Amino acid sequence: MPEVVSLGELLIDFVPTTAGVALTEAEAFIMAPGGAPANVAVGLVRLGVSSGFMGQVGDDAFGHFLAQTLRNNGVDTAGLRFSPEARTALAFVSLKADAERDFMFYRHPSADMLYRPEAVDADYIVSAKIFHFGSLSLIAEPARNATLRAVGIAREAGRLVSYDPNLRLPLWPDADVARAAIKMGWSLAQVIKVSEEELFFLSGTDSIVESARRLWHSDLRLLAITRGPLGCVYVTPKFTGEVSGFQVEAVDTTGAGDAFTAGLLKGLVDCPDAPDIEASLHQLCRYANAAGALTTTRRGAIPVLPTAEQVVKFLAAQDD
Ligand code: ADP
Repeated sequence: MPEVVSLGELLIDFVPTTAGVALTEAEAFIMAPGGAPANVAVGLVRLGVSSGFMGQVGDDAFGHFLAQTLRNNGVDTAGLRFSPEARTALAFVSLKADAERDFMFYRHPSADMLYRPEAVDADYIVSAKIFHFGSLSLIAEPARNATLRAVGIAREAGRLVSYDPNLRLPLWPDADVARAAIKMGWSLAQVIKVSEEELFFLSGTDSIVESARRLWHSDLRLLAITRGPLGCVYVTPKFTGEVSGFQVEAVDTTGAGDAFTAGLLKGLVDCPDAPDIEASLHQLCRYANAAGALTTTRRGAIPVLPTAEQVVKFLAAQDD
């Protein structure tokens, strides 16, 4: 049974073959399997942690391609369902000249949105050490209820619950609905990885300290705030600190946050007490920063998520 179970969306990003063009100017697209929780599952396996993915794709060519991709990457797919009712989600993603991303989603609805509470396998969740989820599966029913049921099972069984609130505003009815639902997921997690931009959106301030104060809750053991090339800030009930990022030639930031999350969760599997020991937590965040930085140095997400060996080698080179 996997050590970490990740639940959420699994989809195909169609990425223009030429970087830096608008979607309308693209002549051809390459299929890039993705979805933040799926990327995290693959990222974990690369770092040497067994993982399983829970969610739903369509019972179509793209859905089976995604399932195969997960399996090829060592992710357990016993918790993946195939819907006869809707197609696999697709996203067309343009990588603009500044290495940032623009999205266009095909989800009207997509199979991941129709993932049902009955499809959630309680034993599978309970058998893992960590349960990880994102916010996109909280957008629409029945996936929202399925997600909440899974989180409830993990919490009740005393498993560590990890959350990555991914803000994709165009997918929500409006910003207030998004904020409320994302905060609801937030209230259920003990470990949260969030980008600075998402944090400020949720808190309504542009100060990390004030945001953490406003959004803190008594179950929270670790809040990791990612800041792109600047690295990250960690907040625990006992201490707050900053870990600088690494200087790399970033060509595509897709998947950097997911690689960071995988690094963080690997650290928590290896050292569950890290949030209580500042030196350990600092090391853990440094490792996660390295995983994130390495991911930006090549195009794509899943194919470029780093292995444990690559991260260790990169870190060793930094120490020289
Ligand atoms: P997200 O992908 O969720 O928006 P970030 O862009 O903050 O998240 O990236 C996550 C982590 O990846 C950062 O905390 C940092 O460690 C690393 N990272 C991201 N972009 C860069 C970059 N340009 N240079 C170095 N490290 C980066």
